[in-house]
Amino acid sequence: VERVNLVDDLAHAMTRSQIEAWFQPQIELASGRVVAGEALARWRHPVHGLLGPDLFIPAAQAHGLIDELGIVMVDTAWNHAADWIARGLAVQVSVNASATQLDPVMLTDHIGRLFDRYDLPPQTLTIEITETRPFVDSDDVARRLRELRERGLGISVDDFGAGFSTAARLDEVPATELKIDVTLVQDTTDEGYASLIEIVELAHERGLRVVAEGVENEEQLRRVEILRCQRAQGYLLGRPMPAAKFAELLAARR
Ligand code: C2E
Ligand code: CA
Ligand code: CA
Repeated sequence: VERVNLVDDLAHAMTRSQIEAWFQPQIELASGRVVAGEALARWRHPVHGLLGPDLFIPAAQAHGLIDELGIVMVDTAWNHAADWIARGLAVQVSVNASATQLDPVMLTDHIGRLFDRYDLPPQTLTIEITETRPFVDSDDVARRLRELRERGLGISVDDFGAGFSTAARLDEVPATELKIDVTLVQDTTDEGYASLIEIVELAHERGLRVVAEGVENEEQLRRVEILRCQRAQGYLLGRPMPAAKFAELLAARR
């Protein structure tokens, strides 16, 4: 699929509800239960079929559509969460906010409004932030995030351990959760295991929940279990799936 050709369609896609939130389960390791889902953007293109974010997020970024996509995804995902909770299916939901969001002030503004509108139990909703620095570059955004966190919004530092990430990154946002990057979860070298241990300790010292991402096999699962990561997410435990399928998974827990 030609990326450039998609751009014209993308602006329309958001107004015509072609953007879907798919959900990937997160398992609580202590209980083995599905307790949360990460919302991942999918575009049901009328001609090209179902497209993953790698195909359209760069285009959205380049053409000033990333803020709108962010708002559409937060609204869609939280709408699903409200529906599930109303049906008695307790669950938490995470949504990605791009670091290169053009206007983080506007996004946090929208997040705040939607957070009020859905009025779900505290800790139901989490925002995942990949590169913390550009996102909280303005004091305004940092203050808004702190306020939202005080009112029960979860804030997750995504892709931690990928490339250059330090403890300082955790101080840039009022985090409640740290997500360990797939590269570190899958790294079987002694060096990789040592940094995994270090990061989990760092997070736990700060009282952060730790989610291990990209768990694809039993060995990786065992390692993050031994280190007492609270949650795991990955193909071994479940692939991203349409919202209706995720609801079935939640309902089947009992
Ligand atoms: P991410 O936030 O790190 O999301 C996790 C990605 O890893 C997802 O790819 C997921 O399908 C994939 N994954 C899950 N389990 C495994 C595993 O066991 N092994 C491996 N190798 N990969 C696994 P996806 O859905 O293609 O999303 C890719 C990226 O696109 C996301 O990475 C996120 O950065 C971005 N993205 C997705 N949806 C949104 C959105 O709504 N807004 C923004 N701003 N970015 C989004
Ligand atoms: Ca994420
Ligand atoms: Ca991630």
